[in-house]
Amino acid sequence: MNIILLGPPGAGKGTQAGHLVASRGMVQLSTGDMLREAKSSGTEMGKRVAEVMDKGELVTDEIVIGLIREKLEQGAEGGFIFDGFPRTLAQADALGELLAEKGEKLDTVIEMQVDDETLVQRIVGRAAEAVAAGKEARADDNEASVRIRLMEYYKKTAPLIGYYHAKGLLSDVDGLGSIEAVQGEIGAILDT
Ligand code: AMP
Repeated sequence: MNIILLGPPGAGKGTQAGHLVASRGMVQLSTGDMLREAKSSGTEMGKRVAEVMDKGELVTDEIVIGLIREKLEQGAEGGFIFDGFPRTLAQADALGELLAEKGEKLDTVIEMQVDDETLVQRIVGRAAEAVAAGKEARADDNEASVRIRLMEYYKKTAPLIGYYHAKGLLSDVDGLGSIEAVQGEIGAILDT
């Protein structure tokens, strides 16, 4: 089963993907994690995307599609969870084509719904927690970048809601519930 967790930054996609990896043996593909890894290991691509990411803007479709293509080639027995990808219609089309080339398809797209103020509070809180734990906060977890990330979401990613609805693949969950409540809702969707 291949699924997309769709939602704005701070909606809880990474947390829920982690749970699905542990409970269902699925493989999480987070383009954000892949890009941060490239950034911290100082690869040419990492250097190119660092500034764009820190500002909160989207990196090019070409780069993220390339990252996903590589990972899809490795396959996943329990299926893939796409977390933070696709974020544009071009990426969504590319994903459909890449899966079709492998004789696979997308089974479900789960939209995680959370209001903006909660998102900003969660992300700014996540940064404060990291600092309190002696870790480095994400460079884009500050209020200015979060506002840009939200605007990028509404302009470029939210159109995917209509796109997947039209394909009959969309379900939604209330992302404001507790982590366990959201897990329950997602589990129910995947088991129907
Ligand atoms: P995330 O960890 O998903 O919040 O992603 C962090 C940042 O990485 C985003 O703000 C973008 O700059 C970049 N990024 C992650 N995934 C994508 C994607 N699918 N398309 C474009 N940029 C992305």
